Amino acid sequence: MNEKSTGAFLRKSGAFLVLGAIILFLLIPLWCSFTASETQHEQEFQTLTQNIQFPNPSPNQEIGVTESIMNNDPKNAISIHYPVLGLDQIDRIIKEKINDILSDYQNNLPDDTHRPAEFSSSLWVDYSSYIAGDQIASIVFTVEKNDSTMAHPDVYILTMTFDLESQALLSLSDILEGEYLLAISDYVREYFMQTEPYAPLTDTELFSIGSAPVQGNFLNFTLNDTALTVYFQKYQIFPGYFGIVSVSIPYENLKGYLKIDTDATLLHVASASAMVPPQQNQPVQGTPIDPNRPVVALTFDDGPHPKVTPKILDILKQNKAKATFFVVGNRVDSYASALQREYAEGHEIGNHTYSHPRLIKLNTNDVLDQANRTDQRIANLTSYTPKLLRPPYGEINDVMRENIQKPFVLWSIDTQDWQTQNKNAIVKQVMGKVKDGDIILMHDIYPSTAEACAQLIPALSAQGYQFVTVSELLAQKQITPVAGRAYRLAK
Ligand code: ZN
Repeated sequence: MNEKSTGAFLRKSGAFLVLGAIILFLLIPLWCSFTASETQHEQEFQTLTQNIQFPNPSPNQEIGVTESIMNNDPKNAISIHYPVLGLDQIDRIIKEKINDILSDYQNNLPDDTHRPAEFSSSLWVDYSSYIAGDQIASIVFTVEKNDSTMAHPDVYILTMTFDLESQALLSLSDILEGEYLLAISDYVREYFMQTEPYAPLTDTELFSIGSAPVQGNFLNFTLNDTALTVYFQKYQIFPGYFGIVSVSIPYENLKGYLKIDTDATLLHVASASAMVPPQQNQPVQGTPIDPNRPVVALTFDDGPHPKVTPKILDILKQNKAKATFFVVGNRVDSYASALQREYAEGHEIGNHTYSHPRLIKLNTNDVLDQANRTDQRIANLTSYTPKLLRPPYGEINDVMRENIQKPFVLWSIDTQDWQTQNKNAIVKQVMGKVKDGDIILMHDIYPSTAEACAQLIPALSAQGYQFVTVSELLAQKQITPVAGRAYRLAK
């Protein structure tokens, strides 16, 4: 989708909202709005099966029946469309994804006391679906979040491809084999180099990183009867004004890599491997460390955040600094491009649980679930499985020590950035105490933390400090981390 079709989508959505509002007014007894007091898992949304004639906002729907979730309050407008295929497991996976998007949107709204008087916000989710042969279906969702404080709406896509027989979610490696990443990357690069208006922008670092032959760059794809289409998030390879872009690669250009027979009925795709993400577990890229200069590990918890994380990544890049991001599992799908950038730029990704609970209050199964689900989400998006876990609130008990198969990473300097949310206070917390071997705790969800980093990192650099990941810091200090033990360093 380019900017033009996104614009068309917006215009259609606007017309759709007006029509939807009229129809919903007539259906008010059926419609219930949700309240902020409901927790995210208990929210029950009124679902209207669409036998109502709306202008069809989606260009391509080859499978399923559309269902919708709507809220016609103009201050909190919600319009979500998703397909129901009538296949239990697939429908459950889709519904879970939709609920995640919705909860994420709700959870990130300012609460009543912090909301500006004229605050309004909206969430749109729409989709296209494609069918390949008689065994594979692909869905591409466009998600657009907006509010009156944002200069531009937050737009992203996410795709799902299913084997209709096993009902398994497929990754690219279930469909292609061999050096397929190289083949796709070459095709995409060649395509954009020869296509206006993209050609002049293909010699940028953004383009070369975003189109490099790594799994993380080609997570969004669909299949139809003639081609594999790969999608690139806004900002992934081109400046934001290009929006989301896609390239269709005809199957004849993928001969030798396809595991499926596209001429006739698509062959059975092995379902056993389908749910397991590729486990490359690439080591975090090594930074040359000068043993004569001090080192610190900057750590950022609770992200990714759609605005703050990219800002911090920019600052790290400008200063050739590496850091560690302890991410929350239930945020990574929504902010996949931020997570993928963290990984692509050589930072370490750590596990900070799935929903940030107090792990010491949970039983063994729930503790394991918090750790494993987060690993899975991260591996799905990056092919990397975190080696380190930072427990929320720094709390550790025996259940965690005995069951979590990872070292725990605490900190030696707490910037208290979440409490002060003040650039100068954060800088002062660090500059007054910092020494060789420190692990510094910050949160990449507050703009003030990014502002502090812009000042702090060059200042520490000037004092000779080198910025390394936590794993690099441990290696530098000749510490072999052990699962179930806690590490805080410095002293
Ligand atoms: Zn946290």
